[in-house]
Amino acid sequence: MSTLLTIPSLLCLTIVLLQFVLPFFLRNLISKSVINRRIDPTKIYLTFDDGPDPIHTPKILDILSEYKIKATFFLLGEAVEKYPEILLRIRAEGHSIGSHSYYHTHAWKHGPWSSFKDFLKGHKVVDHQQTPTSLWRPPYGKANLLTLTYSLINELDLIYWTNDPQDYSPNLDQRQLTNRLLKSSKPGDIILLHDGRRTKSSSINITPDSLACFLTETSLNKSDFATISYKTSIPS
Ligand SMILES: [Zn+2]
Repeated sequence: MSTLLTIPSLLCLTIVLLQFVLPFFLRNLISKSVINRRIDPTKIYLTFDDGPDPIHTPKILDILSEYKIKATFFLLGEAVEKYPEILLRIRAEGHSIGSHSYYHTHAWKHGPWSSFKDFLKGHKVVDHQQTPTSLWRPPYGKANLLTLTYSLINELDLIYWTNDPQDYSPNLDQRQLTNRLLKSSKPGDIILLHDGRRTKSSSINITPDSLACFLTETSLNKSDFATISYKTSIPS
């Protein structure tokens, strides 16, 4: 009887370890290593997830162009197939791109194989001859062991974030987001913002307008903003 009780418990423990605990610690280890190697602590890195979006991404690109600031876009394969011209514009204007899966599958809420397939498909769409990239960011920041192992073997760079002003929060207005950006942004930050997805719900995407206000009002030097480069380490 006690053996029967122990086997399900052990099974549960193994699943928790493999699905949540190990991926969590491995992801933190990898992302810290990438930050140490690739992120200049004197620079600020604006990153935009979930695009390209036909309305908000061009608006954000216009704002970045006006202020001569380069950023990094983590793109969904599904959206890239719909709007490939926006991906090409992002690259043509000197920004970096990374993959963010195909359908935006949450790795902890789906089986390892289905989220791994979503990662592979998304990376394949974003990373091709015209737009090669080594950068990727898992949806919701959650990855599984399969994806992390593949990323390590293929020397991809998992880019997490260090500053999340929560622009996806439905209760946040444009002024509040601007204030959060003004108050919290500092050199060394990788700032998480979104150009896509919110347009799918009834809520308005406040990110482009807040970005414009933030860049107008910030006392940070515009030359302090940088894009995350591919495969090159920062000078030590
Ligand atoms: Zn996302």
